[in-house]
Amino acid sequence: MSAPPPLVEVTNLVKHYPGERGLFGLGPPRGVIRAVDGVSFTIGAGETLGLVGESGCGKSTVGRTILRLVEPTAGQVGFDGRDVFALTGPELRGLRRKMQIVFQDPYSSLNPRMTVRQTLREPLQIHRLASGDDANRRVSALLEEVGLDAAFADSYPHELSGGQRQRVGIARALSVEPAFLVCDEPVSALDVSVQAQVLNLLADLREKRRLTYLFIAHDLAVVKHVADRVAVMYLGKIVELAPAPVLYDAPRHPYTRSLLSAVPVPNPTAQRQRIVLQGDVPSPANPPPGCPFHPRCPHPKKSERCRSEVPALREVAPRQLAACHYAELPM
Ligand code: ADP
Ligand code: MG
Repeated sequence: MSAPPPLVEVTNLVKHYPGERGLFGLGPPRGVIRAVDGVSFTIGAGETLGLVGESGCGKSTVGRTILRLVEPTAGQVGFDGRDVFALTGPELRGLRRKMQIVFQDPYSSLNPRMTVRQTLREPLQIHRLASGDDANRRVSALLEEVGLDAAFADSYPHELSGGQRQRVGIARALSVEPAFLVCDEPVSALDVSVQAQVLNLLADLREKRRLTYLFIAHDLAVVKHVADRVAVMYLGKIVELAPAPVLYDAPRHPYTRSLLSAVPVPNPTAQRQRIVLQGDVPSPANPPPGCPFHPRCPHPKKSERCRSEVPALREVAPRQLAACHYAELPM
């Protein structure tokens, strides 16, 4: 049996923003910010790909560019065999329906002047999916599906808790019956006690609706139980990509190893040696030459080559990709 074609296919995606303006913000932009710097991956239908990395490494820009909420600088995105960046007009609108986003901050992503009903009816109207009583029935069914009483339809966002608002955000994304959801740090703004509930809801919806997810988080612990494969980003590039069990058990990139060494280990006899990363994340406006991670890399074999030659993302073990010249050597 051959593998099904991927639902989402991202090839050499690049997004540069103009750099800061000099002369008190009045001069021309200086240089470019390499927010996303040549990212490639696929997501199979029904699969969840976790996308992890420190704040500012380009995760949201990847998610938003795939959905064309941000225009790309270069690269390709295929969705269900279609070229996302080539579509316009009604074709683009049709595609937008199939690809939705759940934002990090349910406080700012909902319009404070709209009731939950208005929020959920709006996409149904834009995509001409339902109106009148039919739309109201859909609103009730959606609320129930995300674990809210239908009576919440007439509430305003300020009357809801953070978890309830995020459930409304999820219902809004689902209202147009998408196949693919970008979940951009969907639980980062929520209380720890509520995070697991929302993660469970997303997992249930994935099963029930056979959804495909790009699941963004800044923390490897969050995606451990939801992702089939995990991609780790650093300064606009993917530095490691592997099935979740492989990545957590046998990480090969020194950055992934460092991130995982900071995660508490439940079994004290399996204590990992803690690696403390030195220095701050460099700016994407001025990335270091060679391997972008080399200034902070704790690998004992780090060499001159790391300072001059950008390591390619290559297969270092079956189904495991890493962008490190010394990925095969122990640390
Ligand atoms: P993440 O989601 O991983 O925190 P982002 O994708 O939001 O990272 O940002 C990546 C980089 O691009 C950051 O340096 C950020 O400051 C920059 N950036 C993001 N959006 C813009 C924008 N609209 N204009 C200029 N720079 C931006
Ligand atoms: Mg982000």
